Amino acid sequence: MARLELRNLHAEVAEGDEKILEGVDLEVKSGEIHALMGPNGSGKSTTAKVVAGHPEYEVTEGEVLLHLEEGEFGDEIEIDEDQRTWNLLELEPNERAALGVFLGFQYPAEIDGVTMTNFLRTALNAKIEEREELFEDDDAEEEEAEDAGFETSPMEGNVDEGDVGVAEFQQILQEKMEALDMDEKFAQRYLNAGFSGGEKKQNEVLQAAILEPSVAVLDEIDSGLDIDRLQDVSNGINALRDEEGTGVLQITHYQRILDYVEPDHVHVMIDGRIAKSGGPELAEQLEDKGYDWVREEVYGTA
Ligand code: ADP
Ligand code: MG
Ligand code: MG
Repeated sequence: MARLELRNLHAEVAEGDEKILEGVDLEVKSGEIHALMGPNGSGKSTTAKVVAGHPEYEVTEGEVLLHLEEGEFGDEIEIDEDQRTWNLLELEPNERAALGVFLGFQYPAEIDGVTMTNFLRTALNAKIEEREELFEDDDAEEEEAEDAGFETSPMEGNVDEGDVGVAEFQQILQEKMEALDMDEKFAQRYLNAGFSGGEKKQNEVLQAAILEPSVAVLDEIDSGLDIDRLQDVSNGINALRDEEGTGVLQITHYQRILDYVEPDHVHVMIDGRIAKSGGPELAEQLEDKGYDWVREEVYGTA
């Protein structure tokens, strides 16, 4: 069980003093789907970007915490008592990913000639290695160093391949792509070869499926998708929750995707705060009535 906690989060544009987030409180646990809705410009994307550590924004108050329980990463990673709570705002994006937080697809545009397959395998291996480092205990490290001198030769083990080798990864990738109903050719496409908006969204869910995060923050994953793709992407998100126990923070302006990915909790963000929270029925009310009634109800003015 993992829990992502935003506590009284305040943020502004780094270059300037325009306040955007003004005290966001939100908690997403493993296995839960939360929809974060709200009018354009209310601060939804900023929330996602701040959690991701985007340099455009400065956090002026509050915290983003990740709580882990024993066994979150299986038997092989031991999580000590003092490693249960992490302050994400102090960590690099790759460390956040290693802790099981998925924050959207990165497109490293400057890298030429990298296929999706190689990029995704590298991302998976980087996560595994970073995680091992974060949770490494000092005794084991010494033992490993001693062992290395005597027993390990470069011929043994996957020294160059990383933890997940090419063949093993092919199989993982194929399974995940089938589950998302993605075309095989996708895997051989180059990263910077101009994916369409819809393809980028599919890539994002594919990457999440491969990294198997504890918590995923998905910003407008439904934008630019036709109905078939929307269904595939939704299946992928549901599978993350059902099979990996991923907690999902689904940011969306529209109710449409919530027909396919049914949220346990719905939050409405207005003017940089969560103005109202409820169950799935809240999303339906928003569909019928828009956002102004929430503003009226909460702030007494539309
Ligand atoms: P949403 O995703 O809910 O539509 P955003 O988080 O993108 O809203 O934006 C919230 C508000 O902050 C908007 O008024 C937007 O114009 C402003 N904003 C966001 N990023 C920046 C930025 N880098 N510079 C200036 N204003 C910004
Ligand atoms: Mg947005
Ligand atoms: Mg340890």
